[in-house]
Amino acid sequence: MVRFLSVCHKSKTRTSLGISSVIQHTSSKSCYRHAHLSNSINLTISPSIRPNFRSSIFSTLFSFLRFLPKHPNFSNFTERGNGFSLFCVLGGESRIFSYGSLLNRTNFRNPIRNGLRSFSTESDRESINYDVVIVGAGPAGLSAAIRLKQLCQERDVDLSVCVVEKGAEVGAHIISGNVFEPRALDELLPQWRQEGAPVNVPVSDDRFWLLTKNRAFSLPCPFDNDGNYVISLSQLAHWMGMKAEELGVDIYPGFSASEILYDGYDKVVGIATKDMGVAKDGSKMENFQCGVELKGHITLLAEGCRGSLSEKIMRHYKLRETGKAQHQTYALGIKEVWEIDEGKHKPGSVLHTLGWPLDSKTYGGSFLYHMKDRQVSIGLVVALDYQNPFLNPYEEFQKFKQHPSIKPLLEGGTVLQYGARTLNEGGFQSIPYPVFPGGAIIGCSAGFVNVPKIKGTHTAMKSGMLAAEAAFGVLNGGTSMETYWDNLRESWIWEELYRARNYRPAFKYGLIPGVAFSALEHYILKGRSPWTLKHGKPDHETTDAAKLHIPIQYSKPDGLVSFDVPTSLYRSNTNHEHNQPAHLHLKDPRIPELVNLPEFAAPESRYCPARVYEYVPDEKGQQKLQINAQNCLHCKACDIKDPKQNIEWTVPEGGGGPGYSVM
Ligand SMILES: Cc1cc2nc3c(=O)[nH]c(=O)nc-3n(C[C@H](O)[C@H](O)[C@H](O)COP(=O)(O)OP(=O)(O)OC[C@H]3O[C@@H](n4cnc5c(N)ncnc54)[C@H](O)[C@@H]3O)c2cc1C
Ligand code: SF4
Repeated sequence: MVRFLSVCHKSKTRTSLGISSVIQHTSSKSCYRHAHLSNSINLTISPSIRPNFRSSIFSTLFSFLRFLPKHPNFSNFTERGNGFSLFCVLGGESRIFSYGSLLNRTNFRNPIRNGLRSFSTESDRESINYDVVIVGAGPAGLSAAIRLKQLCQERDVDLSVCVVEKGAEVGAHIISGNVFEPRALDELLPQWRQEGAPVNVPVSDDRFWLLTKNRAFSLPCPFDNDGNYVISLSQLAHWMGMKAEELGVDIYPGFSASEILYDGYDKVVGIATKDMGVAKDGSKMENFQCGVELKGHITLLAEGCRGSLSEKIMRHYKLRETGKAQHQTYALGIKEVWEIDEGKHKPGSVLHTLGWPLDSKTYGGSFLYHMKDRQVSIGLVVALDYQNPFLNPYEEFQKFKQHPSIKPLLEGGTVLQYGARTLNEGGFQSIPYPVFPGGAIIGCSAGFVNVPKIKGTHTAMKSGMLAAEAAFGVLNGGTSMETYWDNLRESWIWEELYRARNYRPAFKYGLIPGVAFSALEHYILKGRSPWTLKHGKPDHETTDAAKLHIPIQYSKPDGLVSFDVPTSLYRSNTNHEHNQPAHLHLKDPRIPELVNLPEFAAPESRYCPARVYEYVPDEKGQQKLQINAQNCLHCKACDIKDPKQNIEWTVPEGGGGPGYSVM
């Protein structure tokens, strides 16, 4: 029995969060799961290098540790972000010696497996062992969890599986369009119709328009949405979470995975959740809760687009290089769900537009989907390789809603929810090698969105299922996790993404050449062209100097169909504990005032859809960047678009962020 996970999170709109429980380790056939971790010290480490870990001499200790690699017994020294680990062989026994970014205390841990011992600086951290640890309760993570448990039932095997989710509840951080292709769900849970999945509005009408300022021109619709459904993905994720729990998956909403755990062979052995109740100044508050280590034979990263741990893992193991992948490219989607007049509502009606209000060099478009109960999902997607630093995606969305073909639908309605999230657009060219020692990356963290379809849910789910099957093989059949990669390349995901590969890069030549080329690819060549176009520059490199552009003047919101940011933020139910260290880090705090402001006219104050970044005058009248981290929607645009890649998005304490329920 393990004492554990207890947290209470208060937000302005909700008091929630989940876990205040005692987690019991039920019997398992996995000996790893029973590997007992205690905090007792079993020192066989050489006395000459044995520090007094209970003392407070950290600075001495860590300068000492930096010296240790020179010791002949230490065979490996790895720097990881703010931390490092040392692998040593002492008396014929392997040991790990490590600290991470949340270092606060020290202790030894007892043997994990194979004679390996870990030494961790986080003495108060509990450890729970699982067979499979999954980060992120989105479509990918939950599909993996469900598939694993199904395989357990089919083969009468008991594997322990957990999913850790930073949202206060499953679905709270999920935002999507969403026109849903049920292919993967049919494979995963064929009885979903009878089991009450919130997938019940079939696409009834599918239109595609090219917009100019005052007109809409109908184009042949390339989306082929027959058999698809208009859904709320946050609701589907919520339902899938319940299905996973029914099958025996432990889900921990309200906990952010902030750190990767490695063993001495540089293999991932799980994650640690972020400490809770740490004040801005780093001190512990009354409600302090130490992070928890969730250790697994296999760790699956399902954090969605631009996952913070996934990006670290990709860099650490050079997975892009191994997969011969190009960089990832992204777009930012800004969305509202409206309740409109009954007379205007057509359940299942789907509309996509290209063109206005975006300029011809900026790739993007809008979506408008009629859900059930008079609800309409409306949004604008703006590719983040835009050049004009004065472009403001939030304001472009407000402008879009004023179009004469759109506004009448919304007039008289009310906005139920607002949110924003990035999605990846790199497709086939940008898929990294998704397997690393100890686990794999699944879903949008790896990047399986089919851009011409504007869909990534079905591919995210399928990738989770394939990774689960590979993980099951590792734990039961002695096969390797590489099977995931092999099966991925033989699956329909690969076939789809390969066919769609030239669509998005064609738009780097502008709107009209992009439309012409993609029509040729879609209708004539059908993906069989002998070439593969490359993506242009990474998104952070595409922003032009401000002097090359004229500032864009956006109209004031009318309060009827267009709104200011604070109003929208209120509708996103976003909240973070204010007194916590900012989760948005500036690698160099001088860059905003030295580069972003003078050279690019402060683009972060425009691309952030929550106005987290604001330049305000200091006491000397100098403009200084102020970061309102508590407003953050977790969209990750800043991590992607900052011209100098100076902003690092890390997870805040669990439970904070948006509170979506119909997105
Ligand atoms: C505006 C927009 C419109 C879209 N429209 C469509 C559409 O119409 N059809 C379609 O099929 N697809 C669409 N997509 C794409 C689709 O939403 C994604 O492909 C899909 O959500 C990917 O699923 P995922 O599980 O990989 O990631 P996500 O759905 O992003 O889920 C990731 C989960 O992991 C959690 N998480 C992340 N990091 C951590 C951490 N460190 N610790 C704990 N938890 C963590 C997040 O809170 C989240 O719950 C759209 C996307 C956007 C943004
Ligand atoms: S701070 Fe960054 S992640 Fe948060 S809402 Fe703004 S752009 Fe998105």
